[in-house]
Amino acid sequence: MIVRLGPTGAVLANLLGQYGWNIAAIERDVDLYYAPGAVHFDSELMRIFQFAGLAEDIGRTSESFKDMDLLLEPGGKPVMTTQIGSLDRHYGYPGAWRFHQSTLKGHFHQGLKRFPNVTALYGYHPASIKEHADAVEVGVECLATQTKQIVRGANGLGRVLENVRSAFRGAQPQKTRLGVAA
Ligand SMILES: Cc1cc2nc3c(=O)[nH]c(=O)nc-3n(C[C@H](O)[C@H](O)[C@H](O)COP(=O)(O)OP(=O)(O)OC[C@H]3O[C@@H](n4cnc5c(N)ncnc54)[C@H](O)[C@@H]3O)c2cc1C
Repeated sequence: MIVRLGPTGAVLANLLGQYGWNIAAIERDVDLYYAPGAVHFDSELMRIFQFAGLAEDIGRTSESFKDMDLLLEPGGKPVMTTQIGSLDRHYGYPGAWRFHQSTLKGHFHQGLKRFPNVTALYGYHPASIKEHADAVEVGVECLATQTKQIVRGANGLGRVLENVRSAFRGAQPQKTRLGVAA
C-alpha cells in the first residue's frame, strides 16, 4: 500500500507496478492542484522517469534548457547569468528541464492506468493502519462520505489489495479531472 500519491508516491507506484507488485495507492485529493509550484527537474530524474516508462510522454510536455538568468524582479535586468545542469548529457538527457507541475503529475497518474495490479483510490485517506505478523489491516476512509471500511488481508498484501478493490468498487468519487476515471 502506498499512502500519498504526490510525486514520490506516484513515481514509486509506477516503478513497482512494472514489476507486477499488487499495489493499493491512497490519495486524499481528487483533483490535481491547478497552480504550479515546482518548475525544474534534472537529467537524473529524467532517467528515473525513463525507468518508469514515462520519459517520452514527459519529454513531450517539458522543455530542456541550459541558460539561466537570475532576476530580482519580473522584467528586471539579470543580476546573474549562468548555465544550469550537467551539459554533457551523462544520463543520456539534457541536464535541466522546465515543466508545468500539474501536467507532469498528470503523466504519473495516467501511467498508473497501465497496470491492472495498481489500484489508485482518490479522495480517500488511511484512518488507521495495523500490521500483524500474518496480515495488514487498514481503515480506509472516503473523505466525501466519511464512511470507513476496515480492510484486512489474511494472506498478505495481495489479499489486502483484492479486499480494497471490492470494498470500494463502484464507490470511488469522480476522478475525471485527473484523467484517471476507469
Ligand atoms: C514553491 C515550491 C517550489 C518547488 N520547486 C521545485 C522544483 O523546481 N523542482 C523540484 O524538484 N522540487 C521542487 N519543489 C519540491 C517538490 O515540490 C517536493 O519535493 C515534492 O512535491 C515532494 O513530493 P512528495 O510526493 O514527497 O510530497 P507532496 O508533493 O507533498 O505530496 C504528498 C501527497 O500526499 C497527499 N496526502 C497528504 N496527506 C494525505 C493523507 N492523510 N492521506 C492520503 N493522501 C495524503 C497530498 O494530497 C499529496 O498529493 C518545490 C516545492 C515548493 C513548495
